[in-house]
Amino acid sequence: MTPDDAARHDGATPPPRDDVAVPARDDVAVPARDDVAVPARDDIAVPARDDVATRLREVHQRIAAAETAAGRSVGSVRLLLATKTVGAPAIRAALLAAPSVAHRPVLIGENRVQELVAKGPDLADLHPDVHLIGPLQSNKVNAALRWVSCVQTVDSLALATRLAARATADVRPLDVLVQVNVSGETTKSGVAPDDAVALALAVGALEGLRLRGLMTVGARSPDDAVVRAGYAVLRRLRDEVRGSGAPGTEAVTELSMGMSGDLEAAVAEGATVVRLGTAVFGSRPPVAADAQPPST
Ligand SMILES: *Cc1c(COP(=O)(O)O)cnc(C)c1O
Repeated sequence: MTPDDAARHDGATPPPRDDVAVPARDDVAVPARDDVAVPARDDIAVPARDDVATRLREVHQRIAAAETAAGRSVGSVRLLLATKTVGAPAIRAALLAAPSVAHRPVLIGENRVQELVAKGPDLADLHPDVHLIGPLQSNKVNAALRWVSCVQTVDSLALATRLAARATADVRPLDVLVQVNVSGETTKSGVAPDDAVALALAVGALEGLRLRGLMTVGARSPDDAVVRAGYAVLRRLRDEVRGSGAPGTEAVTELSMGMSGDLEAAVAEGATVVRLGTAVFGSRPPVAADAQPPST
């Protein structure tokens, strides 16, 4: 076993590093904004803890209203915090506030392996469940698997095969979602809807991976009906994969879809995980990792 294997061994809970004094949860002081050394960018918003708690509470109410409107039980949709460009102190504040205000399971989603590696050690004591929600280059697979329990962005058999080869060495399988480009927008990653079922079945058949469902970044459209139709496509594809009864599709339940601007449409179409950044952490500077071009 390499140190990497040891780290992946329990998935989302990498062991604390020996050289780090891990503070007990209650002792953690969330520093005030002015005291925080914010990594990399001056313009990263570091909301104070109360702001994060307030926003999480609002987000819960929004999701709960959507769940109720769809006849789904409140708390059934998981909340993934999309934390690109957000510093570890703000993420920590959100994770600490979540149990009392989010009223649903909370995950972390990072887009870039570089950010996973940079923030991972700072959050390890909180044992967050971290998913990768951005594109993964094959030379970064090992670094990514050190920190994540699920890769939501599998869009080729080549990537899946690489992940499987790496994960097979591990005791438990790596959870994956197949990313589908439901809108056909060229700026977006993901397999075409027509090819999604075949890819999902091939991924499900790989030893070392556990296919959990599908993920998409919705259409960038002011028209709710267009956005919602895209989410309906993802749901039908998931049902087709699951209904195939093919080996490796038994654990297919997840639909990762919906962001700050359109979570209602996603929940209405069956989202099991919504991925929210702006609604929790405030607006962020446009970055390359963003799946969508900045609006002007
Ligand atoms: C940034 C991002 C989100 C969250 O977007 P918001 O509009 O800020 O909620 C969700 N999914 C992916 C893949 C992202 O990159």
